[in-house]
Amino acid sequence: MTNPARHHAGPRHAWVAATITAAVAAASALAPGASALPSAGPPSAVRPAGNRSPLAGTTIVVDPGHNGRNGRNPKALARKVYAGTGLWKPCNTVGTQTAAGYPEHAQVWDTATRLATVLRAQGARVVLTRADDRGFGPCIDRRAAIGNQARATLVVSIHDDGNLSPRARGFHVIHSPRMAGGPAVQQRSERLAVAVRDAFASGTGMPRSTYVGRGTALSRRTDIGGLNLSTVPAVMLEAGNLRHPRDARLLGSAAFRQREAVALAAGIRRYLGR
Ligand SMILES: [Zn+2]
Repeated sequence: MTNPARHHAGPRHAWVAATITAAVAAASALAPGASALPSAGPPSAVRPAGNRSPLAGTTIVVDPGHNGRNGRNPKALARKVYAGTGLWKPCNTVGTQTAAGYPEHAQVWDTATRLATVLRAQGARVVLTRADDRGFGPCIDRRAAIGNQARATLVVSIHDDGNLSPRARGFHVIHSPRMAGGPAVQQRSERLAVAVRDAFASGTGMPRSTYVGRGTALSRRTDIGGLNLSTVPAVMLEAGNLRHPRDARLLGSAAFRQREAVALAAGIRRYLGR
């Protein structure tokens, strides 16, 4: 059975949000400078005060790693695709999971859809590299092509790590020094990685990685197909270590995933200077 009240929740909330937006626009028109007041507009967590659409004109590609049915298609999953830098790698992988069995593909899917909502509320056009968490793939080369074909302003890939060392915890951000986009895109990707790193640390409280990046939470790698094949600025977040109990508890919390989304959007705005 479907609860009709649930069906109405979405559109009704959308209508309320639109009404609030219109009311704020009217208030700003009547009183210039009103938007600088902290009380103006929806909560700053979703929409920063002072500019209702700071990301207007941007196209952000959000790439949630893996997919819910990757494990059911081992042959297609193992098919080798070109990953840049002379490497051929499997189309995709199953990803990791917590000790209790909460899978990475579900964690990053939920975070990615929350991020898409936050970015759209801030005026961005958002493209997700997969439509749901019940399918297969796409392969890593296809994910890169989606960002390239969208002429994305930037791409953020979202993953969780699965390191078995008991002391391994925390997040890190990966960028590639050998991208299809060349040196300018590589430099922008490194700047994006730093902005995302700073915003993610301050916005979520997840500690910097204890086992990657020597305390910087940054990792420069040439073996990540999704980054190597990108012609636009792209980074990959490893949001925490799902095999570590403390990280797993955080990543398994819906409130934490919302903080992830808000922090990532803040990092994107910081990189863009908006
Ligand atoms: Zn992953």
